[in-house]
Amino acid sequence: MIAMNIHQRDDLAFPQSLPEFQRQFPDDAACAAYLKRTRWPDGFICSHCGVIAEPYRIVTRPGVLECRACRRQTGLLVGTVMERSHTPLSVWFWAAYLVASQTPGMSAVQFQRQLGLTRYETAFGILHKLRAGMVRPDQDRIGGRPKEHVEVDETWVGGRTRGEGRGIHHKTLVAAAVEVRHREPGTAQDKRKDGRYAGRVRLAIAADRSAGSLCDFVESATMPGSLIVTDDWSGYAGLRKRGYDHHAIAECGDPEVAEQFMPMIHLVFSNLKTWLNGIHHGVSAKHLQAYLNEFTFRFNRRFYPFNAFRSLLGIAGGVEAPTYAELYSGVWRHPTCSGFLR
Ligand SMILES: [Zn+2]
Repeated sequence: MIAMNIHQRDDLAFPQSLPEFQRQFPDDAACAAYLKRTRWPDGFICSHCGVIAEPYRIVTRPGVLECRACRRQTGLLVGTVMERSHTPLSVWFWAAYLVASQTPGMSAVQFQRQLGLTRYETAFGILHKLRAGMVRPDQDRIGGRPKEHVEVDETWVGGRTRGEGRGIHHKTLVAAAVEVRHREPGTAQDKRKDGRYAGRVRLAIAADRSAGSLCDFVESATMPGSLIVTDDWSGYAGLRKRGYDHHAIAECGDPEVAEQFMPMIHLVFSNLKTWLNGIHHGVSAKHLQAYLNEFTFRFNRRFYPFNAFRSLLGIAGGVEAPTYAELYSGVWRHPTCSGFLR
């Protein structure tokens, strides 16, 4: 909910350039003031006594506000990914700005250098916590609009086969759904791909290519009743029974057929693989869902790059984020874009 409102708030201006960012968020106090405005647009309200008055600030603890009336404290970071972090607010903001504004994303090593952090673990932790904030807990299903359809397909990603021969060793199956939209006739780009372009995308790890896994994915990612276009793999044959309008394309292995009937999903897969290989040199299966979430976040906001920063801060509220120990031990499960899959 916060994420929706925050985009329309003129009082939360977003920097359009690096120098502007530095002017707007020069220190922790400036970041804290921004957070305070997002939460209390009409002035601080004490969560203990309900008094509305400008709170006291504690110089050494910018994330804490103290009520003038009852003297009790309210944490600015409660419910955000920054809660309980020892990293300065200005570093978090800088990190969110980098993640939001750099189109290809960044590896933890690049990130560590950019932020001037001494410990790799800190950079790694911040990146993953921001990624946790990239999924809205109440994320809706895509599709369901009249005259639009959704392409669905699955592909193998990641894994190294060096020294083990060719094949799909250690690769992970990823299922994707993407909306196909149409440009208004007469607009500049309506000639390309017959005026079609990709809308929102959903990506999730799938256990296997069985009908159960694939149809469960479609159900979790797309609105009931949507027109779903897939190849003619038998795993999708049960979609009609599950209440979808299903169109299976034969001969989808043929590049021309694929380009004609399922252009968007192949664009998504190609971008995804380039990004995973180029930026992260391949990722482990354990963290793959987090990268899928990041890709989804960037893809769905690609026309509005600067809204991503506000979304990161806004939707970060109320999202459970992992600790470094949880990330490494494997206890933490990255949230999927559309609920957990098997
Ligand atoms: Zn109070």
